[in-house]
Amino acid sequence: MNVETLSSKDLMQMEDKYGAHNYHPLPVVLSKGDGVYVWDVEGKRYYDFLSAYSAVNQGHCHPKIINALKSQSETLTLTSRAFYNDMLGPYEKFVTEYFKYDKVLPINSGVEAVETALKLCRKWAYEKKGVEPYKAKIIFATGNFHGRTLAVISASVDPDSTTGFGPFMPGYEIVPYNDLNALEEALKDPNAAGFIVEPIQGEAGVYVPDEGYLKGAFDLCKKYNALFIADEVQTGIARTGKLLATCGNCSCEKSCGHQPEVKPDILVLGKALSGGVFPVSAVLANDDIMLCIKPGEHGSTFGGNPLACAVAMAALEVIEEEDLAGNAQRLGKIFRERMQELVDKTELVTLVRGKGLLNAIVINDTEDSKTAWNICMSLRDNGLLAKPTHGNKIRFAPPLVMTEEQLHECCDIISKTIMEFENQA
Ligand code: PLP
Repeated sequence: MNVETLSSKDLMQMEDKYGAHNYHPLPVVLSKGDGVYVWDVEGKRYYDFLSAYSAVNQGHCHPKIINALKSQSETLTLTSRAFYNDMLGPYEKFVTEYFKYDKVLPINSGVEAVETALKLCRKWAYEKKGVEPYKAKIIFATGNFHGRTLAVISASVDPDSTTGFGPFMPGYEIVPYNDLNALEEALKDPNAAGFIVEPIQGEAGVYVPDEGYLKGAFDLCKKYNALFIADEVQTGIARTGKLLATCGNCSCEKSCGHQPEVKPDILVLGKALSGGVFPVSAVLANDDIMLCIKPGEHGSTFGGNPLACAVAMAALEVIEEEDLAGNAQRLGKIFRERMQELVDKTELVTLVRGKGLLNAIVINDTEDSKTAWNICMSLRDNGLLAKPTHGNKIRFAPPLVMTEEQLHECCDIISKTIMEFENQA
Protein backbone atom coordinates (compact mmCIF):
# COMPACT_ATOMS: atom_id res chain seq x y z
CA MET A 1 0.00 0.00 0.00
CA ASN A 2 1.39 3.41 -0.94
CA VAL A 3 0.63 5.35 2.25
CA GLU A 4 2.00 8.57 0.76
CA THR A 5 -1.00 8.95 -1.54
CA LEU A 6 -3.50 8.87 1.34
CA SER A 7 -4.94 12.11 2.76
CA SER A 8 -5.67 12.84 6.43
CA LYS A 9 -9.33 12.13 5.73
CA ASP A 10 -8.55 8.74 4.13
CA LEU A 11 -6.33 7.76 7.03
CA MET A 12 -8.85 8.74 9.70
CA GLN A 13 -11.56 6.79 7.87
CA MET A 14 -9.29 3.75 7.73
CA GLU A 15 -8.66 3.87 11.49
CA ASP A 16 -12.36 4.24 12.07
CA LYS A 17 -13.26 1.30 9.84
CA TYR A 18 -10.51 -1.17 10.74
CA GLY A 19 -9.41 -0.17 14.23
CA ALA A 20 -11.15 -0.69 17.56
CA HIS A 21 -12.86 2.45 18.80
CA ASN A 22 -11.01 2.63 22.11
CA TYR A 23 -9.64 6.17 21.59
CA HIS A 24 -11.10 9.52 20.62
CA PRO A 25 -8.16 11.27 18.93
CA LEU A 26 -8.07 14.91 17.96
CA PRO A 27 -8.56 14.94 14.18
CA VAL A 28 -4.99 15.43 12.98
CA VAL A 29 -2.91 12.76 11.23
CA LEU A 30 0.81 12.96 11.90
CA SER A 31 3.51 11.57 9.69
CA LYS A 32 6.75 13.16 10.89
CA GLY A 33 8.34 14.43 14.09
CA ASP A 34 11.55 16.30 14.88
CA GLY A 35 12.34 17.75 18.31
CA VAL A 36 9.39 19.83 19.51
CA TYR A 37 7.59 19.66 16.16
CA VAL A 38 5.29 17.23 14.38
CA TRP A 39 3.92 17.46 10.84
CA ASP A 40 0.62 16.20 9.46
CA VAL A 41 0.36 14.29 6.19
CA GLU A 42 -0.48 17.50 4.32
CA GLY A 43 2.78 19.02 5.58
CA LYS A 44 1.41 21.41 8.20
CA ARG A 45 3.76 21.85 11.18
CA TYR A 46 2.61 21.87 14.81
CA TYR A 47 4.16 22.28 18.24
CA ASP A 48 3.57 19.02 20.11
CA PHE A 49 2.24 19.92 23.55
CA LEU A 50 1.45 16.36 24.64
CA SER A 51 4.73 14.55 23.90
CA ALA A 52 2.84 11.25 23.65
CA TYR A 53 1.70 11.64 27.27
CA SER A 54 5.26 12.57 28.38
CA ALA A 55 7.02 9.72 26.57
CA VAL A 56 8.83 12.00 24.14
CA ASN A 57 10.62 14.11 26.76
CA GLN A 58 13.83 14.04 24.70
CA GLY A 59 12.02 15.35 21.59
CA HIS A 60 10.85 13.48 18.52
CA CYS A 61 13.42 11.25 16.81
CA HIS A 62 16.35 12.41 18.93
CA PRO A 63 19.42 11.58 16.79
CA LYS A 64 21.37 9.95 19.61
CA ILE A 65 18.47 7.66 20.55
CA ILE A 66 17.68 6.84 16.93
CA ASN A 67 21.33 6.01 16.28
CA ALA A 68 21.34 3.63 19.25
CA LEU A 69 18.16 2.03 17.89
CA LYS A 70 19.57 1.70 14.39
CA SER A 71 22.90 0.27 15.39
CA GLN A 72 21.51 -2.23 17.94
CA SER A 73 18.72 -3.30 15.57
CA GLU A 74 21.35 -4.43 13.06
CA THR A 75 23.10 -6.58 15.65
CA LEU A 76 20.63 -8.26 18.01
CA THR A 77 17.06 -7.35 18.94
CA LEU A 78 15.57 -10.12 21.06
CA THR A 79 16.82 -13.21 22.81
CA SER A 80 14.13 -13.55 25.48
CA ARG A 81 15.35 -14.15 28.99
CA ALA A 82 15.87 -17.84 28.28
CA PHE A 83 19.47 -16.80 27.56
CA TYR A 84 21.75 -14.00 28.65
CA ASN A 85 22.46 -11.16 26.23
CA ASP A 86 25.39 -8.77 26.13
CA MET A 87 23.31 -5.57 26.59
CA LEU A 88 21.17 -6.43 29.61
CA GLY A 89 23.91 -6.54 32.27
CA PRO A 90 25.46 -3.22 31.17
CA TYR A 91 21.99 -1.61 31.04
CA GLU A 92 21.05 -2.94 34.47
CA LYS A 93 24.29 -1.58 35.92
CA PHE A 94 23.73 1.75 34.17
CA VAL A 95 20.09 2.22 35.18
CA THR A 96 20.53 1.14 38.80
CA GLU A 97 23.48 3.51 39.23
CA TYR A 98 21.50 6.26 37.51
CA PHE A 99 18.53 5.94 39.88
CA LYS A 100 20.50 4.60 42.89
CA TYR A 101 18.81 1.25 43.49
CA ASP A 102 20.31 -2.22 43.94
CA LYS A 103 18.24 -3.87 41.24
CA VAL A 104 15.99 -3.29 38.25
CA LEU A 105 13.29 -5.48 36.75
CA PRO A 106 13.05 -4.50 33.07
CA ILE A 107 9.68 -4.71 31.37
CA ASN A 108 7.84 -2.95 28.51
CA SER A 109 4.78 -0.76 29.01
CA GLY A 110 3.98 1.47 31.96
CA VAL A 111 1.07 -0.65 33.11
CA GLU A 112 3.20 -3.82 33.07
CA ALA A 113 5.68 -2.05 35.32
CA VAL A 114 2.84 -1.08 37.68
CA GLU A 115 1.57 -4.69 37.71
CA THR A 116 5.11 -5.84 38.46
CA ALA A 117 5.33 -3.40 41.36
CA LEU A 118 2.00 -4.64 42.75
CA LYS A 119 3.08 -8.28 42.53
CA LEU A 120 6.40 -7.46 44.13
CA CYS A 121 4.63 -5.62 46.93
CA ARG A 122 2.37 -8.59 47.67
CA LYS A 123 5.30 -11.00 47.58
CA TRP A 124 7.26 -8.81 49.98
CA ALA A 125 4.26 -8.60 52.32
CA TYR A 126 4.06 -12.40 52.62
CA GLU A 127 7.77 -13.05 52.77
CA LYS A 128 9.03 -10.12 54.83
CA LYS A 129 6.15 -8.46 56.66
CA GLY A 130 4.51 -11.75 57.56
CA VAL A 131 1.05 -10.96 56.21
CA GLU A 132 -1.19 -14.05 56.29
CA PRO A 133 -1.34 -15.82 52.90
CA TYR A 134 -3.49 -13.97 50.38
CA LYS A 135 -4.64 -11.30 52.81
CA ALA A 136 -2.31 -8.53 51.56
CA LYS A 137 -3.91 -5.15 50.93
CA ILE A 138 -2.53 -2.48 48.61
CA ILE A 139 -3.66 1.10 49.07
CA PHE A 140 -4.36 3.43 46.13
CA ALA A 141 -5.37 7.08 45.91
CA THR A 142 -8.59 8.39 44.35
CA GLY A 143 -8.09 9.96 40.94
CA ASN A 144 -5.25 7.57 40.18
CA PHE A 145 -4.29 6.51 36.70
CA HIS A 146 -1.88 3.60 36.51
CA GLY A 147 -2.89 2.09 33.16
CA ARG A 148 -5.49 -0.21 31.68
CA THR A 149 -5.06 -3.84 32.75
CA LEU A 150 -7.72 -5.51 34.88
CA ALA A 151 -5.62 -5.50 38.03
CA VAL A 152 -4.87 -1.81 37.60
CA ILE A 153 -8.35 -0.56 36.60
CA SER A 154 -9.66 -2.39 39.66
CA ALA A 155 -8.19 0.51 41.64
CA SER A 156 -9.67 3.23 39.44
CA VAL A 157 -12.52 5.51 40.46
CA ASP A 158 -13.08 6.67 36.88
CA PRO A 159 -16.26 5.06 35.46
CA ASP A 160 -14.82 5.28 31.91
CA SER A 161 -12.05 2.93 33.04
CA THR A 162 -14.20 0.50 34.99
CA THR A 163 -17.77 0.34 33.66
CA GLY A 164 -18.49 -3.02 32.06
CA PHE A 165 -15.16 -4.57 33.01
CA GLY A 166 -15.86 -6.18 36.39
CA PRO A 167 -15.45 -8.29 38.44
CA PHE A 168 -12.47 -6.52 39.89
CA MET A 169 -9.30 -7.50 41.71
CA PRO A 170 -9.71 -7.92 45.48
CA GLY A 171 -7.15 -6.80 48.03
CA TYR A 172 -7.26 -3.06 47.37
CA GLU A 173 -8.33 -0.04 49.38
CA ILE A 174 -8.77 3.37 47.79
CA VAL A 175 -8.23 6.44 49.97
CA PRO A 176 -8.63 10.11 49.00
CA TYR A 177 -5.54 11.62 47.31
CA ASN A 178 -3.73 14.23 49.36
CA ASP A 179 -5.28 13.00 52.64
CA LEU A 180 -2.77 11.71 55.17
CA ASN A 181 -5.35 10.91 57.84
CA ALA A 182 -7.22 8.58 55.51
CA LEU A 183 -3.95 6.96 54.48
CA GLU A 184 -2.95 6.40 58.09
CA GLU A 185 -6.26 4.73 58.89
CA ALA A 186 -5.76 2.36 55.94
CA LEU A 187 -2.17 1.63 56.90
CA LYS A 188 -3.15 0.62 60.44
CA ASP A 189 -4.49 -2.62 59.02
CA PRO A 190 -1.76 -5.20 59.68
CA ASN A 191 -2.39 -6.61 56.20
CA ALA A 192 -1.43 -3.30 54.56
CA ALA A 193 1.39 -4.19 52.19
CA GLY A 194 1.99 -0.89 50.46
CA PHE A 195 0.73 2.41 49.10
CA ILE A 196 1.07 3.27 45.42
CA VAL A 197 0.89 6.90 44.38
CA GLU A 198 1.59 9.26 41.49
CA PRO A 199 3.62 12.18 42.90
CA ILE A 200 1.54 14.41 40.62
CA GLN A 201 -1.64 12.95 39.13
CA GLY A 202 -1.17 13.49 35.41
CA GLU A 203 -4.23 11.93 33.77
CA ALA A 204 -6.54 13.23 36.48
CA GLY A 205 -5.64 16.76 35.35
CA VAL A 206 -2.17 17.48 36.73
CA TYR A 207 -3.07 17.53 40.42
CA VAL A 208 -0.10 18.58 42.51
CA PRO A 209 -0.58 17.45 46.13
CA ASP A 210 0.04 19.75 49.09
CA GLU A 211 3.60 20.40 50.15
CA GLY A 212 4.45 17.70 52.68
CA TYR A 213 1.98 15.11 51.41
CA LEU A 214 4.52 12.81 49.78
CA LYS A 215 6.93 13.03 52.70
CA GLY A 216 4.04 12.45 55.11
CA ALA A 217 2.85 9.43 53.13
CA PHE A 218 6.38 8.05 52.96
CA ASP A 219 6.82 8.45 56.75
CA LEU A 220 3.49 6.75 57.41
CA CYS A 221 4.52 3.81 55.24
CA LYS A 222 7.70 3.50 57.28
CA LYS A 223 5.73 3.77 60.55
CA TYR A 224 3.41 0.92 59.58
CA ASN A 225 6.01 -1.18 57.75
CA ALA A 226 4.38 -0.88 54.34
CA LEU A 227 6.05 -0.16 51.01
CA PHE A 228 5.92 3.29 49.47
CA ILE A 229 5.56 2.78 45.71
CA ALA A 230 5.98 5.77 43.40
CA ASP A 231 4.43 5.53 39.96
CA GLU A 232 6.67 7.97 38.11
CA VAL A 233 5.73 6.68 34.67
CA GLN A 234 4.53 10.17 33.75
CA THR A 235 6.29 12.43 36.28
CA GLY A 236 9.72 10.77 36.06
CA ILE A 237 12.71 11.36 33.82
CA ALA A 238 12.95 15.15 34.02
CA ARG A 239 9.33 15.98 33.15
CA THR A 240 8.64 17.93 36.35
CA GLY A 241 11.93 19.83 36.40
CA LYS A 242 13.97 17.25 38.31
CA LEU A 243 14.98 13.75 37.34
CA LEU A 244 12.21 12.43 39.61
CA ALA A 245 9.26 14.00 41.40
CA THR A 246 10.28 11.90 44.41
CA CYS A 247 13.99 11.10 44.68
CA GLY A 248 16.31 8.26 43.74
CA ASN A 249 18.93 8.99 46.35
CA CYS A 250 18.31 10.72 49.65
CA SER A 251 21.86 11.98 50.05
CA CYS A 252 22.61 13.11 46.54
CA GLU A 253 24.22 16.47 45.88
CA LYS A 254 22.74 16.93 42.44
CA SER A 255 19.31 17.43 43.92
CA CYS A 256 17.90 14.88 41.52
CA GLY A 257 14.36 14.84 42.91
CA HIS A 258 11.77 17.27 44.24
CA GLN A 259 11.51 15.31 47.51
CA PRO A 260 15.06 14.51 48.63
CA GLU A 261 13.82 12.64 51.73
CA VAL A 262 11.39 10.45 49.84
CA LYS A 263 13.17 7.51 48.29
CA PRO A 264 10.43 5.14 47.11
CA ASP A 265 10.79 1.50 48.16
CA ILE A 266 9.65 0.67 44.64
CA LEU A 267 10.08 3.12 41.78
CA VAL A 268 8.06 2.60 38.60
CA LEU A 269 9.28 4.17 35.34
CA GLY A 270 8.19 3.97 31.69
CA LYS A 271 7.41 6.28 28.80
CA ALA A 272 10.49 8.58 28.48
CA LEU A 273 12.80 5.74 29.49
CA SER A 274 12.97 5.09 25.75
CA GLY A 275 12.46 8.70 24.65
CA GLY A 276 9.20 7.50 23.13
CA VAL A 277 10.95 5.23 20.63
CA PHE A 278 9.18 2.06 21.77
CA PRO A 279 7.85 0.60 25.02
CA VAL A 280 10.51 0.31 27.71
CA SER A 281 9.62 0.36 31.40
CA ALA A 282 11.33 -0.55 34.63
CA VAL A 283 10.74 -1.36 38.27
CA LEU A 284 13.56 -0.41 40.64
CA ALA A 285 14.00 -1.58 44.23
CA ASN A 286 16.69 -2.64 46.66
CA ASP A 287 17.64 -6.26 47.22
CA ASP A 288 15.50 -6.92 50.30
CA ILE A 289 12.42 -6.21 48.19
CA MET A 290 13.42 -7.16 44.65
CA LEU A 291 14.83 -10.55 45.57
CA CYS A 292 11.42 -11.63 46.90
CA ILE A 293 10.62 -12.52 43.27
CA LYS A 294 12.46 -15.70 42.29
CA PRO A 295 13.28 -17.24 38.90
CA GLY A 296 10.18 -18.26 37.00
CA GLU A 297 7.80 -16.16 39.10
CA HIS A 298 7.49 -13.12 36.83
CA GLY A 299 8.68 -11.95 33.42
CA SER A 300 7.94 -11.01 29.84
CA THR A 301 9.31 -12.20 26.49
CA PHE A 302 10.36 -8.70 25.49
CA GLY A 303 11.41 -7.34 28.91
CA GLY A 304 15.12 -6.53 28.95
CA ASN A 305 15.60 -7.05 25.21
CA PRO A 306 18.93 -5.77 23.82
CA LEU A 307 17.25 -3.14 21.67
CA ALA A 308 15.42 -1.70 24.68
CA CYS A 309 18.64 -1.70 26.69
CA ALA A 310 20.55 0.26 24.02
CA VAL A 311 17.70 2.72 23.52
CA ALA A 312 17.10 3.31 27.23
CA MET A 313 20.79 3.97 27.94
CA ALA A 314 20.92 6.53 25.12
CA ALA A 315 17.64 8.11 26.26
CA LEU A 316 18.89 8.53 29.83
CA GLU A 317 22.24 9.90 28.64
CA VAL A 318 20.39 12.55 26.63
CA ILE A 319 18.49 13.62 29.75
CA GLU A 320 21.76 14.30 31.54
CA GLU A 321 23.85 15.61 28.65
CA GLU A 322 21.24 18.19 27.69
CA ASP A 323 20.19 19.01 31.26
CA LEU A 324 16.57 18.47 30.33
CA ALA A 325 15.50 18.58 33.97
CA GLY A 326 17.02 22.05 34.33
CA ASN A 327 15.36 23.18 31.12
CA ALA A 328 11.97 21.83 32.22
CA GLN A 329 12.33 23.60 35.56
CA ARG A 330 13.23 26.95 33.98
CA LEU A 331 10.68 26.84 31.15
CA GLY A 332 7.94 25.51 33.41
CA LYS A 333 8.21 28.59 35.59
CA ILE A 334 7.93 30.88 32.54
CA PHE A 335 5.01 28.85 31.20
CA ARG A 336 3.02 29.11 34.42
CA GLU A 337 3.75 32.86 34.66
CA ARG A 338 2.49 33.35 31.11
CA MET A 339 -0.62 31.24 31.79
CA GLN A 340 -1.26 33.11 35.02
CA GLU A 341 -1.39 36.34 32.97
CA LEU A 342 -4.10 34.63 30.95
CA VAL A 343 -5.99 33.55 34.06
CA ASP A 344 -5.91 37.17 35.27
CA LYS A 345 -7.19 38.44 31.92
CA THR A 346 -10.01 36.05 31.05
CA GLU A 347 -12.94 34.36 32.69
CA LEU A 348 -12.46 31.31 30.50
CA VAL A 349 -9.41 29.94 32.30
CA THR A 350 -9.71 29.60 36.05
CA LEU A 351 -6.26 28.34 36.98
CA VAL A 352 -2.94 26.96 35.89
CA ARG A 353 -1.10 24.30 37.86
CA GLY A 354 1.82 21.95 37.49
CA LYS A 355 5.52 21.47 37.96
CA GLY A 356 8.32 21.73 35.45
CA LEU A 357 6.82 21.12 32.02
CA LEU A 358 3.87 19.06 33.27
CA ASN A 359 1.09 21.63 33.50
CA ALA A 360 -2.63 22.05 32.96
CA ILE A 361 -5.10 24.86 32.69
CA VAL A 362 -8.64 24.50 33.97
CA ILE A 363 -11.40 25.77 31.71
CA ASN A 364 -14.33 27.54 33.31
CA ASP A 365 -16.97 25.03 32.28
CA THR A 366 -18.40 21.73 33.46
CA GLU A 367 -16.43 18.47 33.13
CA ASP A 368 -18.87 17.20 30.51
CA SER A 369 -18.73 20.35 28.39
CA LYS A 370 -17.08 20.46 24.96
CA THR A 371 -15.33 23.79 25.58
CA ALA A 372 -11.86 22.35 26.29
CA TRP A 373 -12.15 20.07 23.26
CA ASN A 374 -13.18 23.00 21.07
CA ILE A 375 -10.25 25.06 22.36
CA CYS A 376 -7.91 22.18 21.48
CA MET A 377 -9.39 22.14 17.97
CA SER A 378 -8.63 25.86 17.63
CA LEU A 379 -5.14 25.34 19.05
CA ARG A 380 -4.65 22.71 16.38
CA ASP A 381 -5.75 25.18 13.70
CA ASN A 382 -3.25 27.66 15.14
CA GLY A 383 -0.39 25.15 15.05
CA LEU A 384 -0.27 23.61 18.54
CA LEU A 385 -1.44 20.16 19.60
CA ALA A 386 -2.84 19.51 23.07
CA LYS A 387 -5.63 17.33 24.40
CA PRO A 388 -8.24 17.80 27.14
CA THR A 389 -8.07 15.48 30.10
CA HIS A 390 -11.14 14.85 32.21
CA GLY A 391 -13.33 17.20 30.24
CA ASN A 392 -12.47 20.71 31.28
CA LYS A 393 -8.71 20.53 31.78
CA ILE A 394 -6.08 20.90 29.09
CA ARG A 395 -2.72 19.31 29.78
CA PHE A 396 0.35 21.04 28.38
CA ALA A 397 3.45 18.84 28.28
CA PRO A 398 5.81 19.73 25.42
CA PRO A 399 9.09 17.91 24.74
CA LEU A 400 11.74 19.11 27.19
CA VAL A 401 14.13 20.13 24.40
CA MET A 402 12.10 23.28 23.78
CA THR A 403 13.88 26.64 23.73
CA GLU A 404 12.69 29.71 25.62
CA GLU A 405 11.89 31.48 22.36
CA GLN A 406 9.76 28.54 21.18
CA LEU A 407 7.99 28.43 24.53
CA HIS A 408 7.06 32.12 24.27
CA GLU A 409 5.76 31.55 20.75
CA CYS A 410 3.61 28.68 22.08
CA CYS A 411 2.31 30.80 24.96
CA ASP A 412 1.37 33.46 22.38
CA ILE A 413 -0.56 30.83 20.39
CA ILE A 414 -2.38 29.60 23.51
CA SER A 415 -3.21 33.14 24.70
CA LYS A 416 -4.40 34.27 21.28
CA THR A 417 -6.57 31.17 20.85
CA ILE A 418 -8.19 31.49 24.27
CA MET A 419 -8.82 35.22 23.83
CA GLU A 420 -10.41 34.60 20.41
CA PHE A 421 -12.56 31.97 22.04
CA GLU A 422 -13.67 34.28 24.81
CA ASN A 423 -14.49 37.05 22.34
CA GLN A 424 -16.67 34.66 20.32
CA ALA A 425 -18.64 33.58 23.39
N1 PLP B 1 1.18 5.16 35.21
C1 PLP B 1 0.98 6.46 34.94
C2 PLP B 1 1.17 7.47 36.01
C3 PLP B 1 0.60 6.85 33.66
O1 PLP B 1 0.39 8.15 33.40
C4 PLP B 1 0.42 5.88 32.67
C5 PLP B 1 0.00 6.26 31.30
O2 PLP B 1 -0.40 7.34 31.01
C6 PLP B 1 0.65 4.52 32.99
C7 PLP B 1 1.03 4.20 34.27
C8 PLP B 1 0.46 3.44 31.97
O3 PLP B 1 1.47 3.47 31.02
P1 PLP B 1 1.27 2.68 29.64
O4 PLP B 1 0.23 3.42 28.87
O5 PLP B 1 2.64 2.74 28.97
O6 PLP B 1 0.86 1.29 29.97
